[in-house]
Amino acid sequence: MSRPVRMREGDTVRLKKPHPCGANAWEIMRLGMDVKLRCTGCGHIVRLPRAKLERRVREILTSEEAGREDGGH
Ligand SMILES: [Zn+2]
Repeated sequence: MSRPVRMREGDTVRLKKPHPCGANAWEIMRLGMDVKLRCTGCGHIVRLPRAKLERRVREILTSEEAGREDGGH
């Protein structure tokens, strides 16, 4: 079973494994085939394939504007 992972640029995601700096929340800077993430703890930037990221994401902490995305009516 695969559940869709909805991420958008600007979102913050929590990964299963924390970064060595202690933080486990990452900000999505760029979303494409590769995803660019910035550690919210130390500012470290990593890039990894989206498929890989989706398997590591534990939770998506959408930023302040948790707007509903019903793309239509
Ligand atoms: Zn870090």
